[in-house]
Amino acid sequence: MATRISRSASLPVADSGLAPVGTLPGVSAALAASLARLGLERVQDLWFHLPLRYEDKTQLTAIADLRVGERAQVEAVVEGSERGFRFRPQLKVAVGDDSGQTLLLRFFHFNRAQAEQLLPGTRLLCYGEVRHGAQGLEMVHPQYQRLSGSDAVAVDALLSPVYPTTEGLGQKRLAGVIGKALALLPAATQLELIPAELCAQHGLASLRDALLYVHRPPADAHLGQLTLGRHPAQQRLAFEELLSQHLSLKRMRAAVRVRHAPRLGKGELLRRRFLEELPFRLTAAQERVGREVAQDLAQEQPMLRLVQGDVGSGKTVVAALAALAAVESGYQVALMAPTELLAEQHLRNFRQWLNPLGIEVEWLAGKVTGKARQSALARVAGGASVVIGTHALMQEGVTFAKLGLVIVDEQHRFGVQQRLALRDKGLEGEQVPHQLVLTATPIPRTLAMSAYADLDVSSIDELPPGRTPVQTIAISNARRIDVIERIHAACGEGRQVYWVCTLIEESEQLRAQAAEVAHAELSAALQGFRIGLIHGRMKPKEKQSVMDAFKAGDLSVLVATTVIEVGVDVPNASLMVIENSERLGLAQLHQLRGRVGRGALASNCVLLYQPPLGQLARERLQVMRETNDGFAIAEKDLQLRGPGEVLGTRQTGQLTFRIADLARDAHLLPAVQQVGEIMLVEQLLQTDRLIERWIGGAARYAHA
Ligand code: ADP
Ligand code: MG
Repeated sequence: MATRISRSASLPVADSGLAPVGTLPGVSAALAASLARLGLERVQDLWFHLPLRYEDKTQLTAIADLRVGERAQVEAVVEGSERGFRFRPQLKVAVGDDSGQTLLLRFFHFNRAQAEQLLPGTRLLCYGEVRHGAQGLEMVHPQYQRLSGSDAVAVDALLSPVYPTTEGLGQKRLAGVIGKALALLPAATQLELIPAELCAQHGLASLRDALLYVHRPPADAHLGQLTLGRHPAQQRLAFEELLSQHLSLKRMRAAVRVRHAPRLGKGELLRRRFLEELPFRLTAAQERVGREVAQDLAQEQPMLRLVQGDVGSGKTVVAALAALAAVESGYQVALMAPTELLAEQHLRNFRQWLNPLGIEVEWLAGKVTGKARQSALARVAGGASVVIGTHALMQEGVTFAKLGLVIVDEQHRFGVQQRLALRDKGLEGEQVPHQLVLTATPIPRTLAMSAYADLDVSSIDELPPGRTPVQTIAISNARRIDVIERIHAACGEGRQVYWVCTLIEESEQLRAQAAEVAHAELSAALQGFRIGLIHGRMKPKEKQSVMDAFKAGDLSVLVATTVIEVGVDVPNASLMVIENSERLGLAQLHQLRGRVGRGALASNCVLLYQPPLGQLARERLQVMRETNDGFAIAEKDLQLRGPGEVLGTRQTGQLTFRIADLARDAHLLPAVQQVGEIMLVEQLLQTDRLIERWIGGAARYAHA
């Protein structure tokens, strides 16, 4: 363990990476402003702004060889074009090549000049994703350029990186600036912050080489590997990012631990009255975790505890017990949830539980505005006991009189920073509130140690009694009609059904549309039953009234987007259909399925899928059919994560890594921890610089 590290004597004198991006040649104030929107302020931020994916324009594919689902580059000649107005204006251009096949290019956004340029006989170089269309293969909105008469096609020599960008900043321009920044990369030894001995010991390649490779992979690079983030160069970067995250969390933990929190009593009086009113008995696991929390709260050291428990394991009650301890000791409690829907559900639970004990529960969400907001803020500042809300709790202008406990639900939806922001709303001076974090995604142990290195972990590893495991089957979409018939029968028996639309699209609008389509379909097929619809584009009030109607049993079927994924609790719903289930990861499927099987009724889950199933999708559905155990699923998820979760499709709001993926890169964690342990003790300066490099402003904030 005791690796000897030579104290690296001198740091690079002038660190070219710290210069503002504005110092790069050709970077105007406007461009610098665009870059700043991406969080790119210094030259080194550009070094570490990594591609989301790559496009291979180094080759041409014959139309006859195109494969659905793949991106390809095609050289072809326009055979004909047509403008139409089916649903919305569109331009269809048929192109053909020597292979004798035709490909359809489809545009929804185009101008007249563009349409007029695509005359029959025009030679084009197109790049796009190949799809199945009504008339054969097609590309929707391909990139294309016109080739003049006799030009030989010049294919690219390198794979083209596609960077995350922002409106008004095109890929070309962004790649250009990044290229200029890369020209300033210092020599390998100067760039390296992990001591050479440790690099050697853990087989870490040169950071400089790794960076250059991921920004400019050669034409023969393994695109599959790169797309999955498994190339050694990416793994080298992932290692360093995980290390910086780990170091930063350890630092934060140490910084919090030197501060004080109020010692809270056990809240025996309130606790007893609360438990008497509760219609059920706590499970042994709830009792145990409740005790662990109470012990923490009684300390002068701030609690930093994560409670993990499978969906439906009853984490809310444990949170309520902690809240009672704080309230009885005269302190305020803030409970933050990631979505309005979930926050409102907590509000109702807490009001139902705590109002009879004479405890007021305050509501503070983004949608609370004007006078209502002013008076809510005044009551919070005046000492309201329990305050529940969304991230609106962290906004400026929200001040607490005496905040003693912060509860954050469904932690993985919040970043570490957001958690810290709420904590900093805490007490005056040296005091900080205790912190309780609840997560419904069971976290394998290795991950827990890294992603939550600043937290202690308690597990509620037992479900309340009387639950019958959900029976799960997978059915091809070809048998959709059978499934709808089955729903019809279920509704006839008085059961309630969720129908979940899982279109993975960038925009909430498209997701909402898909749900509307399904709603229309089901309404037509299930006459005589009431079908509700809920999606993220609806107003909170509308969402709430739909949820209320479903909860009250007025609706037989609830068609929903994945807004219902987290926390929604309607015990009477006992059948769930998940459309396009092959596209979802295990964790998300498990979350969704957790919405049924909450009552005494035997529940079923139907995973509708669109064939043909890929290998991984098949395995995922298999796992879902075989087990209901969230911990087992989480472990399996870790093994399986792959092609589906390509770079760039990470769920927003998760711990945001630029390159690392906790599931994919979990195998790096033991080494990350070993290196971290040594660096924290022996390499203070390098540790600072590493955190600064990868986490930057966020880490600076954490010191505040
Ligand atoms: P989660 O851990 O997913 O947040 P909840 O706290 O929402 O779970 O609890 C799920 C459901 O189980 C709720 O309806 C809750 O009232 C009920 N519940 C919680 N604890 C128990 C228990 N010990 N016995 C019976 N039902 C319980
Ligand atoms: Mg919950």
